[in-house]
Amino acid sequence: MNQTINGKTKVLGLIGNPVEHTLSPIIHNSLSKELGINCVYVPFHVPHGELDKAIAGGKSLNLQGLNVTVPYKVDVMDFLIEITPFAEQIGAVNTLKFTDNGYIGYNTDAEGLGMSLKKNEIELRNSDVVIIGAGGAAKAVAVLCAKEKVSSITIINRTLSKAEQLSDNIKKFYDLPINVIGYDQVNQLQEFDIAFQTTSIGMSPDIHKNPVEDEAFYKKFHSAVDLIYNPEKTLFLKKAETNGAKIVNGFEMLYYQGVRAFEIWNNLLIDEKILDKVFLQLLEYKKNK
Ligand code: NAP
Repeated sequence: MNQTINGKTKVLGLIGNPVEHTLSPIIHNSLSKELGINCVYVPFHVPHGELDKAIAGGKSLNLQGLNVTVPYKVDVMDFLIEITPFAEQIGAVNTLKFTDNGYIGYNTDAEGLGMSLKKNEIELRNSDVVIIGAGGAAKAVAVLCAKEKVSSITIINRTLSKAEQLSDNIKKFYDLPINVIGYDQVNQLQEFDIAFQTTSIGMSPDIHKNPVEDEAFYKKFHSAVDLIYNPEKTLFLKKAETNGAKIVNGFEMLYYQGVRAFEIWNNLLIDEKILDKVFLQLLEYKKNK
């Protein structure tokens, strides 16, 4: 946050339900402070059934940018004047930018993941990837993978119909082999490159749970990405690490989706040194919380 809130302060925020747990204000207000930009970011709890009012209110109050979180990432698409093709492919929007005519919708979750992978030197192009889960987060992962030209995608999910739906949606936009399997077929998988864990299984406090129990699975890939960041190392990541894989949790994805939103709202690209500095501040905040 800029030191002084005055008549020219630009207001940004997050709409969702719940929003009390969010780290986004820390990300955005630290970036504003570091860059000397006169804006402030606040969480807005939007009651169920009142999303339309929240968007109309945002426009009336001249809120220049909003992030959108659970459960509104899909429903919000009905209230926008434009949606980027990438967000359209994912089928969800997490960032709104104000214009005179209304809000434009973006999806920076996938971009945030892309930036995190780059930072950790995990290359998607020509990789065979396995995505565990087929919910909202899996959609962003799958579209990013397809856009970045992976060789193949295998989706593992409890509800096969949801995985089929995700596969059909990706195939509307991209031409690549996509397989769908259940957890009972995991033992039939051949070696591949990257495993993405996108379910909520293993999230605190259920830290002893793990979506894939087949031990041989963990010997089949060189990199594992879990979108969960609490705990820092899920059981899934621990098993992958024990078997020699490079591991990445979802904390950087969370950070960089915020960074991308901030860049979009302020029409800028932030220097890597500043990004690293603010990331350390965020880590410190999380540690002391
Ligand atoms: P979601 O849309 O509700 O999807 C949940 C997924 O988990 C589905 O594939 C679901 O399978 C599966 N699942 C849940 N409980 C299960 C169980 N007991 N057994 C088997 N499968 C189960 O949730 P989401 O929005 O994708 O979020 C998923 C996770 O990603 C959350 O932990 C969230 O915090 C994390 N996330 C992180 C970031 C980040 O920036 N790091 C961003 C977005 C999400 P079915 O289809 O069979 O129900």
